[in-house]
Amino acid sequence: MGLMTNKTVAITDLIYNYMVENSLREPEILERLREANVDQPRADFQIPPEQGQFMQLLTKAMGFRRAIEVGVFTGYSSLSVALAMPHDGRIVACDLNEEYTRIARGFWERAGVAHKIELRLGPALQTLDGMVDSGESGTYDFVFIDADKANYIHYYERAVVLVRAGGLIAVDNTLWYGHVADVARQDGDTNAIRALNRRILEDDRVHSSMLPIADGLTLALKLA
Ligand code: CA
Repeated sequence: MGLMTNKTVAITDLIYNYMVENSLREPEILERLREANVDQPRADFQIPPEQGQFMQLLTKAMGFRRAIEVGVFTGYSSLSVALAMPHDGRIVACDLNEEYTRIARGFWERAGVAHKIELRLGPALQTLDGMVDSGESGTYDFVFIDADKANYIHYYERAVVLVRAGGLIAVDNTLWYGHVADVARQDGDTNAIRALNRRILEDDRVHSSMLPIADGLTLALKLA
């Protein structure tokens, strides 16, 4: 890569607050869910509201009807997408954790979208492989990957199979607190995310873009 000039605005708290005050439209049920999570030890698993709004925009712009979520936590992202989907929209939501997904289910019900979301409790790789085995390849509009980083590349490979041509894969945490850019960081999660970022860059099955939103969000559009 040649000489680069960074034209991305560094998001200070001041600028972040401006952005939120001047662009965020968060449905009340999502606000309630965020408030319910403030004391959760893993509250950082939850996507921020501006990212939820962006995923709702994608859902409406691309008309997602069939989606997969890998990594549910307490359901903020799945609830965001479900609220933006038409009445017959469907999300297969994959997670291992019963305690967190019980909270998610409660909010899906309160929001009136529980019928759109099918929770599959168990290892997500098994769930995704089962979907491939039952002939669902190329039938999904959208896959959101936000789970254990060690398996990221495996989730991505299944996602490319399961989405249709013109479908979208979104991968969360691709900047990983900035650790990916620090060569001194050689832990497993950081290296797993680096490997996936490189894989997507070199993957000619997709057109991709890495967005510096929240902790980094990479979008990959499956080509025909
Ligand atoms: Ca995340």
